[in-house]
Amino acid sequence: MATTDLESLPPDRAISAVTHDGSFRVIAVRSTRTVRGLVKSQRATGPTVENLADLTAGTILVRLTMAPNYRVQGIIQGAGGHGTLVADSWPDGGTRGLARANSPVVFGEGARMQVMRTMPNGAMHQGIVEVSREHRVSGAVMNYLLESEQVTSALGVASVVSENEVLISGGYVVQLLPECTEPPLAVMYERLRHDFADLSRVLVEVDGDPDKLVAEILAGMDYTRTTEFDDLDFRCRCSSERVLASLATVGKAELEDMIRKAEPLSITCDYCQQEYQVQTEMLRGLLTAS
Ligand SMILES: [Zn+2]
Repeated sequence: MATTDLESLPPDRAISAVTHDGSFRVIAVRSTRTVRGLVKSQRATGPTVENLADLTAGTILVRLTMAPNYRVQGIIQGAGGHGTLVADSWPDGGTRGLARANSPVVFGEGARMQVMRTMPNGAMHQGIVEVSREHRVSGAVMNYLLESEQVTSALGVASVVSENEVLISGGYVVQLLPECTEPPLAVMYERLRHDFADLSRVLVEVDGDPDKLVAEILAGMDYTRTTEFDDLDFRCRCSSERVLASLATVGKAELEDMIRKAEPLSITCDYCQQEYQVQTEMLRGLLTAS
């Protein structure tokens, strides 16, 4: 696969579909552009690129499966507490992330994924699962859905990366609905185990297109497309107002110290590397406001 310019990449999107027999709901996502922006902003290289891609696709899938209108954060801590990866997915379709690792995050014993989902009442729903070496991010997100959300599903996320450039990122979740009975379930498990074992290859075949991916997963079954999620992309949420607001948590003495030094303060957003200049005058305003 050849590398494509960001401009010529099709927009990221997701769709959901339900089978007419009431057995399955499927959500498929293309997250290539989102992950590209995220990887670039974090200057990620090596295995971190693939891990960030999978975490991002998995986090978006949790949001779309549970409550698209509420924020979901997926946080992976590598084995031995070495390295942290974050995907932060918002209702407007924007996702940003962080990679804090001196060396690639290692999965296996001690590696954890924490999912934090904002609830309609403002409370936080949280779950922590292990990230195994064998089942990686796909297995971790699937376990999270089962253990923390009581959603039985089959889930896969994958990417194709070449020289630190993400060519394709995406995934799917097949959710078992209450009406699901033995025959369609057995067929689905067989299909996913055989035809979707190498999801990267499948994503290349369907060119990352979520419609084609759903059609492959539900081949031979009658289904209706239910929802389309447009406008998915890499987007940060920082602004000079938010940067200033974050300074409001700095103590009064420290603020006075900054003002006395009268040096313009430069603050860089960890998510997107945007630099903000905070003038002494703005700090003074903060001091009188507090
Ligand atoms: Zn930012």
